Formats: sequence, structure tokens, C-alpha cells
Amino acid sequence: MTKRQARPASERQSARRATSEQPVERVPRRGRRRGGAQREADFVVIGAGSGGVAAARRAAAHGARVVLIERDAIGGTCVNRGCVPKKMLSYGGTLAAILSGCLSHTGGREDWGDAIVRVNAEMARLHVAYTHRLQEAGVTLLHGEATVTAPDLVQVGAETIHARRILIATGARPQTLPVPGGELAGTSDDVFTWQSLPASIVVIGGGYIAVEQASILSRYGVKVEMLVRESRLLERFDHEIAAALAEALAARGVRLHFNAEVTLLNQANGAIDVCYRQGAPDGDGNDGGGDRVHTVRAQAALAAIGREPQWENLGLAALGVEKSAQGGIRVDRSFRSRVRSIHAVGDAIDGLHLTPVASAQGRWLADRLFGRRGERADFDVVPTAVFCEPAIGSVGLTEHEAIAAAGKAERVESVVRRFVSLENRFAGSGQASMVKLVVNARSGRVLGAHMMDNAAPEIIQTLAVALRLGVKLSHLRTTVQLHPTVAEELFA
Ligand code: FAD
Repeated sequence: MTKRQARPASERQSARRATSEQPVERVPRRGRRRGGAQREADFVVIGAGSGGVAAARRAAAHGARVVLIERDAIGGTCVNRGCVPKKMLSYGGTLAAILSGCLSHTGGREDWGDAIVRVNAEMARLHVAYTHRLQEAGVTLLHGEATVTAPDLVQVGAETIHARRILIATGARPQTLPVPGGELAGTSDDVFTWQSLPASIVVIGGGYIAVEQASILSRYGVKVEMLVRESRLLERFDHEIAAALAEALAARGVRLHFNAEVTLLNQANGAIDVCYRQGAPDGDGNDGGGDRVHTVRAQAALAAIGREPQWENLGLAALGVEKSAQGGIRVDRSFRSRVRSIHAVGDAIDGLHLTPVASAQGRWLADRLFGRRGERADFDVVPTAVFCEPAIGSVGLTEHEAIAAAGKAERVESVVRRFVSLENRFAGSGQASMVKLVVNARSGRVLGAHMMDNAAPEIIQTLAVALRLGVKLSHLRTTVQLHPTVAEELFA
């Protein structure tokens, strides 16, 4: 990979402005313009992320007059700080690792600066594409910070928009580390703006964002240590698959410390000391020695400890919009808040915080408000992935969930298969892959499918349809396999 100089942040931003934000109406800040204009709309959407863009386009397609307001770059978290940049960066790391295993050249490591240039180019392309599609649909896109001043009024800069319906699609933000020195740790948002990498990093957290970031960074040559509060990675995923992933990461040199409660961060001679208390054996099998305090030093620290819905500054509480126990906007099955004209979708409400979930909610709501009553997506069976290496794909119940949900007469069985894919044999890594099917032993129905392999997310997406339709283990076993594939292991 040739080394290119990464563009400075200011240059990237002006490139972004020149491409993505040109066609967007900029609203002057309040006070800069005398008197306020009032615009009439049927639907005001606040936030041009996955949920907001989907809802705005669909509502406009039904003939509604739609105003979409965004304070930052179009596309929201997914395009700018989430799915797209992280997946591209993980491709870079993974492909480089595969190549360096297969080819006899040395130093097959992807260059971070070069990868970031390509990620930014894709983001800029998406900004233009999104803006173009919204304009084609007839959506008015305003740039600025919105607040809701009445159940039918939205303020953005000096402009007031009067609308019958308002949609809050303002997403979520990373939680900050609530310990002294917590501000020294960056978040996942920061990683995508880095022009160069630290030599070492402490990743705090064990959820999917922490795991993905740790995996990506280690593939780009950063020495990674993970501090995980729980006793395993990926608490919400199948435990056996999560344990297999922990092994794979450890084999690649990522040091994992479980039951580690971070207590303090300190700046120390250009590095950061992260202090943590550990009450149980860690991932390396070392005894944590009771409730001892340990310190790990690295050039940087990253906190990926969860995300919180962001809607407090919109003025909604004063209008009577309620907050759920988890911090999201409380909505009913139709995504309507306690204030009848105000709806909310995506990461701003409780539930699965994923791009396709936010988009499906937004589209369904727009159909319901402005078109015919649309078919509701099945939010109970949602496939999900962790784009680490090896990747994880998962749909349906984990073994633990299935056992907990099973009635007295039911028995849950798991079919587990471990194998080394041809890809890994060719690359010489010997990395094992894993498939696990969770099955109702009486009916044979497959309740969950979990997989660890770089092909897993693609396979699981398709299998999700079969699961929704009630596929049985016997159906998989009697389907002729496509050979040689990773997917055939599901059917064996
Ligand atoms: P967002 O996409 O966050 O959009 C909200 C928008 O509202 C933002 O652009 C924000 O600037 C704007 N906004 C907020 N307040 C205001 C205001 N007052 N005025 C104007 N604008 C405002 N999901 C997946 O499905 N697959 C993945 O692989 C995946 N990877 C991820 C990786 C990371 C690191 C992160 C952080 C998230 C990832 N997600 C992934 C989750 C996914 O990005 C979110 O679930 C999704 O973007 C939520 O969409 P949304 O529309 O609710 O909010």
C-alpha cells in the first residue's frame, strides 16, 4: 500500500462543504436576521440521520410538504461516525491481514492515513447522493440547530416552521466516562477524525462498538488493551460465540481484562494511565487478586461504554414529552410521544439502536401519517453483526434467551460446529470459525443462529428471512449445500 499524506482536517471540512452542503439552505442564527420568517409544512423532521432521511423521503413521496433540519453533516451517525466509516476501515485492516498471510511480501499492513482518505471520499460521495435524493423527492433541507417551541412549531435560527407533525430523529451520542480524568478518553466519534494512530491504546468497554474499534485498531498495528467491566465480551450476544471471539482477539495480541472497573485516568508524560479495580480473574486467566487497583499505561484511551439518546436540548420536556427509564423519548407503538403531534424514531427512543431499525421506523411512520397504512417491519427478529475480525453475525434468540423463554415442556438444544474456512487455510492463519444454531428440540424450529466468520454478517442477513418464516433444522439439513462455502456449515 503506498503511503499518502492524509489531508488535514480543515481541508477535509472544506471539501465536505463544497460537495455535500452546497445545495442545503443555511439558516442564519437567531438574531442575525431582523424579524423571523415563518414557513408552512406538513412534516418537520429534526435530524438527517438514518431515521430522519427515510421518514422525510417517504413522507415527501406521499405528497407531504417536508422540511428536514440537520445541524451537522447529512447522513447522521451511520454515514459520518458509525457504520460506513468503521466498516470501510475494518475492510482495510482485514484485507491487508489476509494479503499479508497469503502473499510472501512483508509488512502487509494497511496505512491508516491512506484508509481515512478513502473513507472521507466515500462520506463525501454519500453526502452528495443523500442531498440529491432528498431534493429529487422535494424535501426542503435546512442546516441548523432545531428546537421545538410549541407542539406545532419548530425554530431553526431565525426561522419558524409551522407543521402539523413533528418527527424527532436526533439520534444518540457516546456516553462520557464518569470518573475523574474521564475526559482524557476519546470516543468512537473521535477515531474517524484521527489522521494518525497512537502506538498503544486502552479501549474501555466490551460492547459491539468497543470490540469493533479494538479489532480495527489492532489490525492497523496499534497495541490494544481492553478493559471490560463485565466477565465477558458482547454481553447481549451468544456467550459461546463471544468467548470464541475473545480467544481470537487474544490470539491476535489484544489483551483483555474482564471484571475491570475503571476508576481514574491520569495524564502521565505524554501517555495516559488508566486505573481500574478488578475483582475476579481476567481474560488472560490471571487472578485479579481480589479488589486490587491496577494501572495500564497507553498513548491514548477510548471510552466505548454506551450511547445515550440526545433530545434534552430540543425543549421537548417543557411541552410534556416524557422520558423513558432508559433515557429515550417515551413513545407508543405508533412512535407517538405523549404530545400527539410529536413523534420520535431511531436512537432517540428505546429499542435496538441500528440503522435499518431507524430507517424502517421512519418509513413506516411516514406511510401511516401521510400515505396508506404500511406493512410494519418485524422488529422482533432483527439480524445484527459485529464487524470485528473475525466478524460475528447473529439473529434470533441466544441460547440463554431461548432457555429463559422456554416453557416447562420445551427443551432447547444447540448445534455447534467449529471449522477452519478455506480462506483462513489459504491465508495460513488457522483462525477457527464457528456456527451455532439454537433449536427447539421438540418442534425442531430454529430459534437463533449465531456465527463467527468474516462471511457471517452476509449469511445471517439472508438466514433472517428463513428464521422469520419458522425454518426447522430439518429444512436446513435437507437443503442441498453450495460447496465450497462458509454458509454450508449451517446446513451440515
Ligand atoms: P442519527 O443517525 O444519529 O442521526 C441523528 C441526527 O440528528 C444527527 O445527524 C444529528 O446531527 C442531528 N441532530 C441532533 N440534534 C439536532 C438538532 N437539535 N437540530 C438539528 N439536528 C440535530 N448500526 C447498524 O445498523 N450497523 C452498524 O454496523 C452500526 N455501526 C455503528 C458504529 C458506531 C461506531 C456507532 C456509533 C453506531 C453504529 N450503528 C450501527 C448504529 C447506527 O449508526 C444508529 O443506530 C443510527 O445511525 C441511528 O439513526 P438515527 O436516525 O436515529 O440517528
